[in-house]
Amino acid sequence: MKQLASLNPFLWKYRVRLLLGLLFIVLSNYFKILAPQLTGYVVNTIVQAVGDPNAGSIATKKKYDIIVDRIINVLQAKTYGERFLWCGITLLLIALVSGIFMFFMRQTIIVMSRLIEYDQKNQVFAHYQQLDSGFYKTHSTGDLMNRISEDVSRVRMYVGPAIMYFINLAAVLGFSIYFMLKSSPELTWVALSPLPVLAITIYFVNTIIHKKSERIQALLSDLTTNAQESYSGIRVIKSFVQEKAMLGFFAQNSEAYKKNALSLAKTEAIYFPSMALLIGVSTLVTIMVGALGVVRDPLHHSVGTIAEFVMYIQMLTFPVSAIGWTASMTQRAAASQKRINEFLQTPSAIQQPEEPLLPSLHKTIQLTNVDFTYQHTGIHALSNFSLQIKAGQKIAIIGKTGSGKSTVAQLLLRMYDVDSGSISYDGVPVSRIDTGYLRSNISYVPQDVFLFSETIENNIAFGTTGATKSNVKRAAEQAHIAKEIEQFPLGYQTMIGERGVTLSGGQKQRISIARALIKNPAIVIFDDCLSAVDAKTEKAVLHNLQVYLQNKTAIIITHRIFSLFDFDTIIVLDQGKIVEQGNHTALLQQKGYYAEMYARQQQQDMH
Ligand code: ADP
Ligand code: MG
Repeated sequence: MKQLASLNPFLWKYRVRLLLGLLFIVLSNYFKILAPQLTGYVVNTIVQAVGDPNAGSIATKKKYDIIVDRIINVLQAKTYGERFLWCGITLLLIALVSGIFMFFMRQTIIVMSRLIEYDQKNQVFAHYQQLDSGFYKTHSTGDLMNRISEDVSRVRMYVGPAIMYFINLAAVLGFSIYFMLKSSPELTWVALSPLPVLAITIYFVNTIIHKKSERIQALLSDLTTNAQESYSGIRVIKSFVQEKAMLGFFAQNSEAYKKNALSLAKTEAIYFPSMALLIGVSTLVTIMVGALGVVRDPLHHSVGTIAEFVMYIQMLTFPVSAIGWTASMTQRAAASQKRINEFLQTPSAIQQPEEPLLPSLHKTIQLTNVDFTYQHTGIHALSNFSLQIKAGQKIAIIGKTGSGKSTVAQLLLRMYDVDSGSISYDGVPVSRIDTGYLRSNISYVPQDVFLFSETIENNIAFGTTGATKSNVKRAAEQAHIAKEIEQFPLGYQTMIGERGVTLSGGQKQRISIARALIKNPAIVIFDDCLSAVDAKTEKAVLHNLQVYLQNKTAIIITHRIFSLFDFDTIIVLDQGKIVEQGNHTALLQQKGYYAEMYARQQQQDMH
């Protein structure tokens, strides 16, 4: 439960709403509680009207609430007919006023819970965004999504309805017990005794219902994932003729879901009857004991009191059953808040330095004896890696897959921190540089392209503010994709993604390159970004790059040798170590890995 304490700052933020809500709850219940008293009076007046003189004296002798007393005093002077009429009108008014306050109670407290939900979602999202890549590698997207949607809405059930029903219960109990005791202590105990049983029963039934609904939720999520995969993989399913198998799989999931849903319906069906049973018992016993009292001692007991108590019981039913509901809601909210806190309390492994520096990135980049291991897999990706890159140099990093090329890019962007050794820009260690400044001054084309379900234009302009249409077009031209884009009927406004065009791998890569080129950074890192384009396009893009990269520092990662491109230094990586280093001619002369690779590539290109 202490997990829920982390919500207190939010409650404090909206304290005015909360206090107003509290006031409205009290007022609403205060008016509601007048109805049984007035009804008691009406019943006693009826009894008196049909000829029992005692009833009248009891009706006026009883201690009611001030407002009810006043009304009665006024009514006593009138005829029976007028009394009934006015009581009826007053009861209506009381219900109306109580209802209005109830409306305000929901308007304050439920609205507050929605505001807190909004704040909390933003808080979680903001935290997610600054977490490091390592975190995202170790937590599934589904889990992250759940915590920001499902868990946050469960927490809302605590800050909204649960708190509201709890205060409501306290108000109803307080008022009704006060007036019940005033009216008849004996009947009070009789009427109240079954209520704890009701509260406990509801709590248990609720817990069972929640467990079952959770199971159903999980099954439903399986079912939707299953369906979704079949739709997106429909081409594979059809070509492997697996429609029947998929249907069987779906039917099986669907069956499990149905079974659980039916079982839940059964439990829910017990809910209201069992509640009604307990209320019935309580009402019955109250009427019996009350009636016996009237028969034995008509001077001190009245029929009106019985009517009054029956109404109290009715009034208490819902709030008392809400205890069970509130308790299980609060428990669930605490569990959800715990999961949310777990992530909120996870600090990012990449911390913004306390006094972030903004060194010139137009100077030397220095990597010295860098060692790096991916924590969660224990893969030693780079060892003793040293490299100096002077401003304006063009560096190529070549090597087999898994040799650690992409890792170099990740470390340069400070997506991870090195285990040992150092990386510095202009002599300033990367860990002391403002991370936002660093990343916004490096144009990075990642190896695995990611495009948003957005227009092509927005995908290219992503990450730059104020890019004009002509900027976008120029970047597309430089990435040698403009012609293809312009052939789409909607041009740059074409949507990408599920409901838009399907682009080829090479097209995606070039849009991703355009997104990097539209920035005008000091440093450019291209990670194997031409792997899916044909040789002719590759040539064209490289040609444009030569021009674009003038006066820029470039690190180009590739598994193919770009012999057209005049690199200052070529690094050959193998198993995280530099095995060869030099320019094209020098490396060919070494007759090592690079020379061999070049020969093989020449041969391939000839065919
Ligand atoms: P390359 O880009 O040369 O193909 P990488 O730098 O991507 O190589 O990978 C180097 C090694 O580190 C590989 O063995 C790879 O499996 C591993 N690796 C890469 N990225 C991660 C990661 N995020 N988590 C764990 N291991 C990784
Ligand atoms: Mg790679």
